[in-house]
Amino acid sequence: MKVVLLGAPGAGKGTQCKNIVARYSLLHLSSGDILRQERAESTELGKKAQSYMDSGALVPDEIIIEMMAKAIEKAPADGFILDGFPRTVNQAVELDKALVAGGQQIDAVLNLEIDDNVVSRRITGRRSCPQCGAVYHIENLKPKTEGICDNDGTELVQRSDDTQEVLSNRLDAYHRQTELLVDYYKKNGTVYDFDADRDPDDVGASIFEKLDALVKM
Ligand SMILES: [Zn+2]
Repeated sequence: MKVVLLGAPGAGKGTQCKNIVARYSLLHLSSGDILRQERAESTELGKKAQSYMDSGALVPDEIIIEMMAKAIEKAPADGFILDGFPRTVNQAVELDKALVAGGQQIDAVLNLEIDDNVVSRRITGRRSCPQCGAVYHIENLKPKTEGICDNDGTELVQRSDDTQEVLSNRLDAYHRQTELLVDYYKKNGTVYDFDADRDPDDVGASIFEKLDALVKM
C-alpha cells in the first residue's frame, strides 16, 4: 500500500502517521527526515540542498523530488507512507511519473482537515521546557505550577515559530498549496478527507476503517 498523508501544522499528522506505520507495516518516508539524513551524510544531493539552505533559500523541487524518488526506490514491496511530500502539484506529477515507471501508484491520499482556529489554539498554547524538552499546553496539558516544568522546575518557553503571526503565514501557505494538490489527487479518486478537529483516537479509527477496506481489496 502506498499512501500520502496530508495535514496542516497542528492537525496531528505525526501521531496518525506513527499509528498507520505500526498497523500496516509501512515504511515512513518523511521528507524532513530524509533531507536531514542526506545533509548529515553529505551526499551529493545533501550538499546541493545545504547550499540552498545556507543562502536562506528553499530547497528546489527537483532536488526534493530526486531525493524522495531515491528513497521510494529502496522502499519494501509492502509499501510506504509519504509525509511532507509531495507538497506541490509539480512534486505530485513527478512522483506519479516515477511510480508509474516502476509499475506502482499511490493507493490513497489521507487528508487531515482542521479548522484554523482549532490549530491556533493547539499551537499558540504550546509551551516547552528548554531543559528536558517536555511539552505542555496552557489549556489542555497544564504543568502543576503555571509556567514551570514538572520534571525539573525550569521556566517554560514558547517556541519562536509557535506564535500566531508565524502560524498564520504557515497556514496560508499550506492552504494555497494543498488545495491544488488535493484537486490534483481528487481527479484520480484517491483522496479521503478526515475531520481532524476530533479526538486523535477517533481520527485514527476513521483512517483505519478506510485503509482496512483498501487492504482487503
Ligand atoms: Zn523540563
